[in-house]
Amino acid sequence: MLNLKACPRCGGDVNSNRDIYGHYKVCLQCGYMVDVAKPEGALSLPRSRVKREAA
Ligand SMILES: [Zn+2]
Repeated sequence: MLNLKACPRCGGDVNSNRDIYGHYKVCLQCGYMVDVAKPEGALSLPRSRVKREAA
């Protein structure tokens, strides 16, 4: 997916992409790259572990 003029650094076009590590966005004009937050599943795992250790 292409986000026009979404780059915070140069105002260029940012293309959404993904690899084995997850989603990221990269600017086509200047190469600025930003990681996109992972899904909620990554956060629920440590939370349930803490609850089990406490009980
Ligand atoms: Zn840029």
